[in-house]
Amino acid sequence: MIRLVIFDFGDTIFKSGPDPRSTGTCKWEVLERDEDGWPTVVAPPDRKGFVERAFPHAQEVLREMRRRGIWLSVASSAEPDYTPFMVEAFDMGALFRHAFMAQKGDYLQDCSRKGTWVEAIIHDFNVAECQDDPLEPREVLFVDDLARCLDAVKKRVPGINVVLSMPRMEEGMKYIYEVIEEINAEHH
Ligand SMILES: [Mg+2]
Repeated sequence: MIRLVIFDFGDTIFKSGPDPRSTGTCKWEVLERDEDGWPTVVAPPDRKGFVERAFPHAQEVLREMRRRGIWLSVASSAEPDYTPFMVEAFDMGALFRHAFMAQKGDYLQDCSRKGTWVEAIIHDFNVAECQDDPLEPREVLFVDDLARCLDAVKKRVPGINVVLSMPRMEEGMKYIYEVIEEINAEHH
């Protein structure tokens, strides 16, 4: 059973792109919300003409996973002065625990750090929330849009489940449900 899903951010949950509604007002602004009122498009304080967009159903799917009792975390090499504030603008801060994000000036593109971070995230859960029933790698799923990051994580954490993110399909992030169902069925 999958008990923890660890996500990359860029091109996995969010994508930035041009949008003339973004006017650089010196604060994060919500431009669009889903039918439940959760932000889906936000404009950053100082990047005029650009917005951050959550992939379709991202809010709904992440919240539903938490409702089902699945832990969520993040291993992201996105900008440390920007990404945590973006997550707050999307009102997603409370969804993720033990997130690992890049330190300032830390832009290694080989993904080797993601393996270390994922290992550390699992460890953090096991000394905090999961002390009585430690997570095993086969109960963890890592999602990223880069195959080399998946490989780095598999190498560092043997037995972990990994999947290439595919949120551009019509159903957006709902593909995660099927991935989890498939993994859970395999282990029965
Ligand atoms: Mg990415």
